[in-house]
Amino acid sequence: MSPDEILAELRARRARDLPTHGGRTLAYVYDSGLAQADEIAREAVAMYASTNGLDPTAFPSLLSMEADLIAFARSILHAGDEVVGTVTSGGTESILLAVQTARDAAGVERPAMVVPSTIHAAFAKAAHYFGVELAAVPVGPGHRADVAAMTEAIDRLGDRVVLVAASTPSYAHGVIDPIEELAAVTRERGLRLHVDACIGGWVLPWVPDAPPWDFAVPGVTSMSVDLHKYAYTPKGVSLLLHATPQLRRPQFFAYADWPGYTMLNSTMQSTKSGGPLAAAWAVVRHIGADGYRDLVARTVAGTRELAEGVAAIDHLHLVEQPETSLVVIGTDDAVDVFTISDLMLDRGWFVQPQMRFGDEPANLHLTMSAATAPSVPEFLDALASAVKEAAAAGPVRIDPLLAEAAATLDPDTLDDEAFDGLLALAGLAGEGGVAVPERLGPVNALVDVAPPRVREALMIAFLDRLSR
Ligand SMILES: *Cc1c(COP(=O)(O)O)cnc(C)c1O
Repeated sequence: MSPDEILAELRARRARDLPTHGGRTLAYVYDSGLAQADEIAREAVAMYASTNGLDPTAFPSLLSMEADLIAFARSILHAGDEVVGTVTSGGTESILLAVQTARDAAGVERPAMVVPSTIHAAFAKAAHYFGVELAAVPVGPGHRADVAAMTEAIDRLGDRVVLVAASTPSYAHGVIDPIEELAAVTRERGLRLHVDACIGGWVLPWVPDAPPWDFAVPGVTSMSVDLHKYAYTPKGVSLLLHATPQLRRPQFFAYADWPGYTMLNSTMQSTKSGGPLAAAWAVVRHIGADGYRDLVARTVAGTRELAEGVAAIDHLHLVEQPETSLVVIGTDDAVDVFTISDLMLDRGWFVQPQMRFGDEPANLHLTMSAATAPSVPEFLDALASAVKEAAAAGPVRIDPLLAEAAATLDPDTLDDEAFDGLLALAGLAGEGGVAVPERLGPVNALVDVAPPRVREALMIAFLDRLSR
């Protein structure tokens, strides 16, 4: 195929995705609205795409750009001279490494970590990968970490605790956990405290009234900060910071006992493209601290405007007052969030439904980018009209027998054929396997009534078939 044909095909395939720019996709993507920042990012990715971070002596450019990014991060996160950092491929990798490092440093049998129940699922993944028990403690009022309950869990688990973690803010509710109070507890006990600032780490430094949450708080031992979120860099860049080189040491992996080169890695990847790192370096240099201050001011103002508008729409309420750039919307019984989300897509906006959790009903999660801020009135018009239409249609009705079956299923007893049947029942049957239906509302509403274990099993069966 000719380059022109190939590029045309790539463009055609991209056209079926959610848009990454324009501010109408309120999950997964982050848009600064700064065309020049995007342009230099693309050039930097292209220039460095084939470089390999596997060997920093072969590609010293990568080591120097990593050092520059960490230096910038230190300057905005109240980090002293001792703080060290590593560029990783994303928030999940930063968290996986923080957990692995804490586990290996402690070297105890049956390691455990104590976290609020709102902690990001990446910690559950780390627990699963590294054999660390996830002691998830129910949150207190305002969906914030319950320090007394977490302290109790810490003391109950005793020497088994290798890590305590909390979020600034949490992804699901967008609220900031009480880091100072938690740090007082972990400091007294000589425990590591990880602050998951994946989504807030490039916002809070420029929020004037934010409570202390970063390395300014004595006792914070590590922190994850994603650049591919609010630093507005292309995907594939996060920072993992440790308070001292000693705390970081178990993160590094070396292996000399094989016939090839001596393996020496700071992250989970070995061969890794320098593209995302170079792009992050370029974008952070281009926007700079003043630029980010301005982007955050616009994003936070837009978030407030959006929150006020949501509270004024019939059938809707805010689940929490937004503290940064995340808005979580609940509904009354006259409408359901899955239908609203479909109807918003009809109107050109993507909003993310979050399924029920414990006693809490499903809700809608909005991630504000700077590029969305100017269109908040337009968004609110679309939302009001979507809610009106959803109220007229009424919430998705689920056959009570089906709901009952979903709620009582034991996924361990199901074979492949049973999963095929369930996926078909859920409306996900397609040509020779599964397909994503035009409207996800009815599927989501059904999956929502299934308990987490059933939901997980169903989703894995779905992905398995989707990717065969
Ligand atoms: C996004 C996010 C993560 C995970 O990061 P990925 O880059 O998606 O791997 C972890 N914690 C929080 C709070 C996040 O918002």
